[in-house]
Amino acid sequence: MDSTRNLHSIILGELPDEGKQFTGVLEEDIFGLPPNEPQATEGITYDLHVSRHDDFLLVTGSLLTAFSIECVRCLAQFPYRVELRGHTFDVEITDEVTMDLTEAIREDILLSLPAYPKCEDSSLGEIQCTPAVKVYSPDDPPPESDDETQGGSKQNVWGALDNLGALNDND
Ligand SMILES: [Zn+2]
Repeated sequence: MDSTRNLHSIILGELPDEGKQFTGVLEEDIFGLPPNEPQATEGITYDLHVSRHDDFLLVTGSLLTAFSIECVRCLAQFPYRVELRGHTFDVEITDEVTMDLTEAIREDILLSLPAYPKCEDSSLGEIQCTPAVKVYSPDDPPPESDDETQGGSKQNVWGALDNLGALNDND
């Protein structure tokens, strides 16, 4: 059986009242994002229960896949796993013959990705984030470091940064 075709065309006439389980791997890249945006690195493993409720399909189950995402801070690519378990969505029935679930799946998976992806979001958990250009914001204060303690005219600046670091010590 072609599992990809399954999710693209759920045949309503074959859905029993109690619903039906759909399990498999959708190998096709349904995201189709430009190169600077997240890229799927594997198929979508799905285990979904689909049932009809009047004018919509109720879908519950799990969606698992992985992406390569660019860090907004250092621009490196890092791996990111998507694991939507116990996930629920519904799809309005617009065609009485077959329904395509892939658009709803695409949307929900993209919504689960971090809005401001950083290396620390990586599923590997140990990636060093080394920004090429350091841009600090109040939400992202500079780390305290030893190698940036040159004096001179920069002293006041580093003093201010130290104060920021001290405030951050309470974390
Ligand atoms: Zn990074």
